[in-house]
Amino acid sequence: MGDAAVTMLNTSTEENRLREEIAEIGRSFRQLGMAPGTSGNISAKLDNGWLMTPTNASLGALDPAEISKLDWDGNLITGKPPTKESFLHRAFYDQRADAGGIIHLHATHSSAVSCLNGLDPHSCLPPITPYFVMRVGRLPLIPYYRPGDPALGEAVREYAANYSAVLLANHGPVVAGKTLEAARNAIEELEETAKLFLLLRQHDVRTLNEDDIEALRQAFGASW
Ligand code: ZN
Repeated sequence: MGDAAVTMLNTSTEENRLREEIAEIGRSFRQLGMAPGTSGNISAKLDNGWLMTPTNASLGALDPAEISKLDWDGNLITGKPPTKESFLHRAFYDQRADAGGIIHLHATHSSAVSCLNGLDPHSCLPPITPYFVMRVGRLPLIPYYRPGDPALGEAVREYAANYSAVLLANHGPVVAGKTLEAARNAIEELEETAKLFLLLRQHDVRTLNEDDIEALRQAFGASW
């Protein structure tokens, strides 16, 4: 077998593995109550394009073979037509060369936070646990746009170079990871932190202070 054939074989093996992984993560989000209805979408980068969950698909019942494969010109190569929210993912891939997977959800607690008035637009969840600081980092708030408005993609693009996660106002989070697994862990951490934040709203909270955060930067390379 020639080098080109070996490369193609490896590519398709990796593509198939990622198709299975997307379906498994979708099932898990559904079981966790993080993907109601047909909300939420998951993507993964390939050598020759990217995989994207289809439009009007329930994340709990994805057929790996039907997941959309797109090239970088936006053409559909295989599978069903992609979600109409593909542009959120594309904004991150364009700005973060190291992004291997991206997830967007309408998960209850982070979506609830996205509807609050008075959030800090540069960091809308405070540093209440070290895991949030390490796995997600500062979370900017993107102003409200109607669904599908191309201006939303432009707004996300502005932040995507400097932040691995954003919260869309009155909507939900978008999170990028170096791998799909990292994106999954980060968005689960974000949802859990949003839940803690809402539980603690009427309480006097000790957030991590600058010394605590500096120690996380030193020990774990946290970017906050
Ligand atoms: Zn959405």
